[in-house]
Amino acid sequence: MSKLLKIAEGMEKFFGRGKFETLKFAEDTCLFIGSFGNVAVVETDDGLVLFDLALRLFGPLIFKRVRDFSDKPVKYIIYSHGHFDHCLGYSYFIEEVKEKGWEMPQVIAHENLVRRFEKYTMLDKHQAWTYRQQFASVGVGASNNESIHKRLDPTIVVRNNESYEFQLGNVKFEIYHDKGETDGMLWMFVPDKKVLFTGDLFVSSYPNVGSPFRVQRYAKQWALANEKMMKKNPEYLVPGHGPLLEGKENIKELLSITAESMHFVHDEVVKRLNEGKWFEEIYFEMLDIFPEKFKKHGYLRPLYGDYRFAIHDVYRLYHGWYDSGNPTDLFPSKSDEIAKEFLKIADEGNFLERAKQLVEEGKIQLALHILDVIIKANNSANPEVLLNALKLKSKILKQKAKEEPSFIAMNIYNTNVLQIKTRIKELRKSLK
Ligand SMILES: [Zn+2]
Repeated sequence: MSKLLKIAEGMEKFFGRGKFETLKFAEDTCLFIGSFGNVAVVETDDGLVLFDLALRLFGPLIFKRVRDFSDKPVKYIIYSHGHFDHCLGYSYFIEEVKEKGWEMPQVIAHENLVRRFEKYTMLDKHQAWTYRQQFASVGVGASNNESIHKRLDPTIVVRNNESYEFQLGNVKFEIYHDKGETDGMLWMFVPDKKVLFTGDLFVSSYPNVGSPFRVQRYAKQWALANEKMMKKNPEYLVPGHGPLLEGKENIKELLSITAESMHFVHDEVVKRLNEGKWFEEIYFEMLDIFPEKFKKHGYLRPLYGDYRFAIHDVYRLYHGWYDSGNPTDLFPSKSDEIAKEFLKIADEGNFLERAKQLVEEGKIQLALHILDVIIKANNSANPEVLLNALKLKSKILKQKAKEEPSFIAMNIYNTNVLQIKTRIKELRKSLK
């Protein structure tokens, strides 16, 4: 329970829903469970439809909330996409089906989700390694709990750009595919109830395009998906993360500005690629032109996704890995060898002094680059300076983590603080 609480606190801070708030809506025929990620239930005369299943860790809690709401059998489960926080909390529902002798539910997903699960199986250890860094502050990935090896595979696979419809009781369900956070997104609309289920195509943050550890995402198609959703004129919106949204005008405005923000990042990067610019120039120009209306919008804050990450993502969609335009970078020397050469020009003490001055001037990012020369060169002849450089870097990273609105960037800083701590310990030991 303590681990669960710890995660809940972290998520509350960054997603605003850590308390697993449960809300009935659409004349009490639907249930919203604010989780990581959100889970939604539609009750019909003939059974339940579940949209997403959260992390495995939260499965027992989700099951309890669903069963407090209705005792009808689960007939359909829809995966909005193949990320672990939407697919793994199934086990209690399946045990229940077996216990009661019910029919197994149909599980609906896009064909690219099936490929994704295969990829995660191949890269399971790597995946866990990235989770430990990306979610360091909340402990997700600390165990093998969220491994993909145990999973509930889809029984109905949506192909290509096809849509899928089904009826349960008197309720009609429409399912659509669009690319966005993954290439296998599904979203659902229930016309009778005017409820839209977006999965991570809408979250209460700047969309998660370009997450530093993750593969390619699709800003343009994501924007178009949000516009398609708008045309459904929903009264309720169940997002992948963040609170349930209500009110046609409110929802239209939020989908519209989210779409606009992604058209913006996509089109402005494309424009600059066509002007023959390299990544660095594009990136800093893009920071300068980021409109205030996006920057200040309550639902576009860089809590999880981040405009800064999105610039990278659009760039790499259209450009190869050679991104500097400087042939020095084509087949570069090892960075520690380069650092050692710098220290032949001026010694560690000079670099450390300059880094301290930069910190005093408030230029802490520049200070990190200077400290990295000492740290990379790793000169054992002057271990005291190296130790001080590590300490100062750790202090700067802690400060950056504290000021950083992005959950993922914050975790990356904090993970490195822990690594530096280990290195300092080892260094002290060797000095004795
Ligand atoms: Zn998610």
